[in-house]
Amino acid sequence: MPANPGMGQEVVLVGLDSPRHAELHAMLVARIADIRNPQSTMPIIALVDAAAEVETELWSHLERMKEDAIIVLQRAVKQVETGTYGNCRVRRHDHDNQPCNRRISMRRLRKFPLTGKCGTCERKELRHRPQIRRR
Ligand SMILES: [Zn+2]
Repeated sequence: MPANPGMGQEVVLVGLDSPRHAELHAMLVARIADIRNPQSTMPIIALVDAAAEVETELWSHLERMKEDAIIVLQRAVKQVETGTYGNCRVRRHDHDNQPCNRRISMRRLRKFPLTGKCGTCERKELRHRPQIRRR
């Protein structure tokens, strides 16, 4: 069956020994060799596809993060309404494990609206954190 170029016939059955078959076979084999070649540009094309996939994944991850942030912020709004927002929730070992309960400064809450830790507890924690050795 003869190929009919220019007639919009993209799929044409050809004999296994036809020049068309030989050319396609050679092209595909060369492509495989190209992908396997560490100097090849093919992995870059593959990377572009992978990057598109990563981007999609990243966007859906960001969407989930946004939803999580909304949930946490809505919880904070409820805490404001019930008057429990803005107090330190850090358990103090020197106070029978009771929450510190100090009021967190407005300055700190403006910067970190979801913090449950007052500046005093934050500084205490930083002091007890293992230090990184510097040369
Ligand atoms: Zn505190």
